[in-house]
Amino acid sequence: MTSDRDKNISKLQGIAVSPGIIIGKARLVDRSSVKILYKYLINKEKIHLEVERFKESLRTTKNQIIALKNSMPDQIKSHAFILDAHLMIIDDDMLSDSTVNMIMKEKINAEWALKKSVQNIRQLFDQIDDEYIRERIYDVENVADRILRNLAGKEQNDLFEINERVIIVAHYLSPEDTSSMNIAKVMGFITDVGGLTSHAAIMAKSLKIPAVVGLESVTYHVQDGMLLIVDGNTGEVILNPDDQTIIEYQEKQLRREKYESSMARMSHLPAETVDGHKIAIRANIEFLEEVAAAKDHGAEGIGLYRTEFLYLRSQGIPADEELFEDYRQVAEIMMPDPVTIRTLDLGGDKFLPDLGSANEMNPALGLRAIRFCLKEKYIFRSQLRAILRASVYGKIRMMFPMISGLQEIFEAKGVLMEVMEELDRENIAFDKDIPVGIMIEIPSAVAVADMLAQEVDFFSIGTNDLIQYALAIDRSNEHVAYMYQPFHPAILRMIRQVVTAAKDHELEISLCGEMAGDPLCAGILLGLGIDELSMNATTIPAVKKIIRTISMEDARADLRKIFRLDTATKVREFIVSKMGPLMSELDVMSV
Ligand code: PEP
Ligand code: MG
Repeated sequence: MTSDRDKNISKLQGIAVSPGIIIGKARLVDRSSVKILYKYLINKEKIHLEVERFKESLRTTKNQIIALKNSMPDQIKSHAFILDAHLMIIDDDMLSDSTVNMIMKEKINAEWALKKSVQNIRQLFDQIDDEYIRERIYDVENVADRILRNLAGKEQNDLFEINERVIIVAHYLSPEDTSSMNIAKVMGFITDVGGLTSHAAIMAKSLKIPAVVGLESVTYHVQDGMLLIVDGNTGEVILNPDDQTIIEYQEKQLRREKYESSMARMSHLPAETVDGHKIAIRANIEFLEEVAAAKDHGAEGIGLYRTEFLYLRSQGIPADEELFEDYRQVAEIMMPDPVTIRTLDLGGDKFLPDLGSANEMNPALGLRAIRFCLKEKYIFRSQLRAILRASVYGKIRMMFPMISGLQEIFEAKGVLMEVMEELDRENIAFDKDIPVGIMIEIPSAVAVADMLAQEVDFFSIGTNDLIQYALAIDRSNEHVAYMYQPFHPAILRMIRQVVTAAKDHELEISLCGEMAGDPLCAGILLGLGIDELSMNATTIPAVKKIIRTISMEDARADLRKIFRLDTATKVREFIVSKMGPLMSELDVMSV
């Protein structure tokens, strides 16, 4: 990554997170919140003008929200109620009248008065006991931000308002931003910050839009409307390319498309080694809409359904019925293959402002995933209920994320039992033998994997977080992205330890971090004895292809040599040398 601040720079290098080449116009998106610093007094004669300026900004804001509501993409239309709530806030006297009164009484400008009104409202909300109602203040602040932008004449930059095919250029995109993008219009995105396993990056892959993150200063170098080439395979971003460069990349684009269609033709063959050992290849999904693509790419089930994105889309807690419908459909479409639904993993880099974790100093180590669910039990229960109800419509497995030790399993299973009893009392059918598993993604869980194995039906290793916590690197920080090392001997040993514990207790063992979809890792994971690899659907054909070229015997022999190597670099070199001619083919498609 370059840290060069030269405005005339023509090429930047970042981290390639979602493959594909795009050539298009930049849309610079400002996701920073509004900071209106100027405060001034109004002279008496001009007060009515200031009040009118404020009222005009309310009308503009209202019209914007109505337009936004009308143009919401179909997939997220059911969440229009959030915008209705925002419209109600605009009409509510609490915000508008108090601001007008403040302008008149204190003779201050509209921005200043609005800020003061919001502060007063916040104080009132802070005294409310009910956490859910208390945190509606975020909606008030969101609306106030929008009004402030209009007062300042700034554009809102809503991602789903984008109406021409552009490349989004932003300092940062949250998973919430990525999930609300108008995919038909967004060609891809590039950001200053982020790493390979940050959730916005994972989502770009799912949505099949090319993306490069960790460019550090791309928002400084790129102007709105500038022509860009983004190479999601190499991480290169070219600014204002000349004709020759454009032709070169168009040819590259064509080669890639040809390669992809040749791979797609083979994606339905099983992942079976030359000596007849089969491994299950499943897909990671974030949305119901991805199930079809998972099937098309040859997924034999869903190994990881990251359910939090439905909550992010809804910007709140979806109704039980909505959750149930969603899970039922995934299960039915995938039948007879299994679907592993992971319970909520909010926190880390995925927050709902309404749910409080966004203010933590260190969210990756904070109230995340199962910890959050065990605290906010009403949210957990509603999800468990929906999963259980859907379980009679297919082959559903349930998985708890971020388990650090036995106690959390006991508590989570305790809540599960209560919900099961509740359904029994209501005569609602569910799969009483639903397999219950856990993610192994915290080093403490690795250390006690043999104990955890006695309490659950399966393990799934989450290497994205396991690497983050074991090597002490923030997975979304571009400055330490070079330390994301799946081949680190410590990581390989940890995986081996978990596999051994699982095998000793006859548990099925899966791996669902990004490592599962890296063709370079396939041989190691096979040799270690992993039963299932779950990955982004786009990587399934390549991983299957690699597995079909190796033998289990060789994989085990190589593994013995790999465990004698003492650095990640040596392991990588060993694998690259082994893969020989396959490497150049992988270059075309890998990220
Ligand atoms: C992981 O941590 O490897 C994982 C699969 O979960 P997530 O990426 O959703 O944290
Ligand atoms: Mg994880």
